[in-house]
Amino acid sequence: MNKFEQLGLNEQLLNAITDMGFETPSEVQEKAIPVLLEQHSDMVALAQTGTGKTAAFGFPLIQKINQFSKTTQGLILSPTRELCLQIAQELKNYSKYINELRVVAIYGGASITEQAREVRKGAQIIVATPGRMQDMINRNMVDISEINVCVLDEADEMLNMGFYEDISAILSHTPKTKATWLFSATMPKEVATIAKKFMKTPLEITVGTKNASSKNVRHEYYMVSGRDRYIALKRLADANPDIFSVIFCRTKRDTQNVAEKLIEDGYSAAALHGDLSQNQRDLVMKSFRTRQIQMLVATDVAARGIDVDDITHVINYQLPDEIETYTHRSGRTGRAGKSGVSMVIITRSEIRKISGIERIIKTKFEAKKIPNSEEICE
Ligand code: ADP
Ligand code: MG
Repeated sequence: MNKFEQLGLNEQLLNAITDMGFETPSEVQEKAIPVLLEQHSDMVALAQTGTGKTAAFGFPLIQKINQFSKTTQGLILSPTRELCLQIAQELKNYSKYINELRVVAIYGGASITEQAREVRKGAQIIVATPGRMQDMINRNMVDISEINVCVLDEADEMLNMGFYEDISAILSHTPKTKATWLFSATMPKEVATIAKKFMKTPLEITVGTKNASSKNVRHEYYMVSGRDRYIALKRLADANPDIFSVIFCRTKRDTQNVAEKLIEDGYSAAALHGDLSQNQRDLVMKSFRTRQIQMLVATDVAARGIDVDDITHVINYQLPDEIETYTHRSGRTGRAGKSGVSMVIITRSEIRKISGIERIIKTKFEAKKIPNSEEICE
């Protein structure tokens, strides 16, 4: 008997788990699943990125759905359209042996009438961004008055993105009897506030050290002079020919510029940021996932929570404004037990930020030199 069988999951889910190749539950899954299945209570679960939170709420949520009733019974709120699509797809994989289960993703940037039509056909589970959800509630296109479970996924990110008002408005349309499950990588005070305001004595699960980054990730910084940032990036790519990487820039414009320059210089790269149409973003994500692109140059918002397997390097072309964002960036690599490297390109004046980050991630950076650095100042 494998460990998944001991968690109380039903036959259909166990078969799907076998098909997906999951052998043992991750820590957050082991802790959350049995409790969520047995009790109807609120939960706050903190676990770093890449620890399998989607299945930790997805399995028990699916098992709690009455597949023969068409009403919406589960609502998952998630910060971005990419994440909604990703979660919806995962839930479809988990429920492949359950015939009557319908999962519908609703998010901005796509036709609202089309999404309303999908919901009308029956959506026992809705995965939504807070903005579009609120919009559809206002237009009477969804009914969440009978939901049994509401999941707030990547709660820290949703609050970072300013979704507090939307979330609280949405929750006011849900029944008091529902259970609320909050999943988050970090616990800033905004998350604590949400938990306090909207949850009834939640069970708490914490996996690993709060805010610490994955042990599988090595952190390195490379000091260059500001005008050499781009050359440094190219050298790092050249030194790692098999690189499969997300490169973070601070603004949409820098993201676009860096991607364009890389492409001009013959690298396999693409930009991902909020000025692209939904269609363009889907295409970029698809080519990255299928490895037609080696380097995805992205803004923090666009790359939030994206789970692409086997990313070898995260490159911080520029450091984020908020130190906590660094945890999310570096969490894109070193997932599911694999190792990864998070590199930061900095200028001399930014060195202080490195010690700030070290305190948060409780890990030291290695100071490294750009390969062939004799051609670069510093
Ligand atoms: P999080 O939401 O915590 O960042 P995800 O739910 O996106 O993490 O999962 C990260 C990756 O780990 C996914 O590719 C997922 O398929 C994989 N994964 C999840 N649970 C397991 C497991 N028990 N065994 C193996 N891989 C798993
Ligand atoms: Mg997640």
